[in-house]
Amino acid sequence: MWFGVVTLFPELMTAASTAGVFGRALEQGVLTLDVFNPRDYTADRHRTVDDKPYGGGAGMVMMHEPLARAVQAARDSAPADTPVVMMSPQGSRFAQAEAVRRSAGTGLILICGRYEGVDERFIDAHVDLQWSIGDYVLSGGELPALVVMDAIARHVPGTLGNAQSNIDESHLDGTLDYPHYTRPEETSAGSVPDVLLSGDHARVSEYRRREALQRTFERRPDLLTRRILTGAERNLLEDICDP
Ligand code: SAM
Repeated sequence: MWFGVVTLFPELMTAASTAGVFGRALEQGVLTLDVFNPRDYTADRHRTVDDKPYGGGAGMVMMHEPLARAVQAARDSAPADTPVVMMSPQGSRFAQAEAVRRSAGTGLILICGRYEGVDERFIDAHVDLQWSIGDYVLSGGELPALVVMDAIARHVPGTLGNAQSNIDESHLDGTLDYPHYTRPEETSAGSVPDVLLSGDHARVSEYRRREALQRTFERRPDLLTRRILTGAERNLLEDICDP
């Protein structure tokens, strides 16, 4: 899958994308990341990318032309019909379902805003979608772009070593993940639940399903209202609520 990121801070992309699962997938060619800096597409000797807002007010606004040229360069490198997505606190909330859906595509161009934001005419003319990673305001779109790419990449075949790794994860089926334990069996903070040492796969599976439902019920009950529960899950939940 191809990612093109339009950013004034390419170094933020390099630092965060070279480590771990994402970095390995780049190395192996499962993912490609190209970065386009609007400053490289300016026409004046100061390489100006922002200016004061019309109408007055605080801060600076990213200018249309350098952004438009950077997006054109990204389009020239991108697979055909690659959508252009603006990172924005005003966008629709980016969630797991979107990550899974987008992982089936061939590419994405992600635009990172800075300052007060970008000239609205750029958004009207060049942006297909706007995504927010949460109801708070960050200083730039680089962290959101990294969040979005990482979440999508985990579902691109070949990114995760073990394809099973993301099957049980939080949010994939509308519940949170169950708790995890590793060696040793005893630590100063306690022991591993017996059932995980039993070797009985059916019991382990039921224990994990119950734990996943219990913590979803306790921490994020809103998730359960968005999901149709199976009969077995309803029984487990009744038992959790009234043991
Ligand atoms: N004035 C803008 C507003 O209130 O909507 C906020 C601008 S913010 C300081 C600068 C840039 O950071 C935005 O253009 C966007 O690219 C990015 N950004 C900030 N918060 C974000 C969020 N929650 N999700 C996605 N992008 C965000």
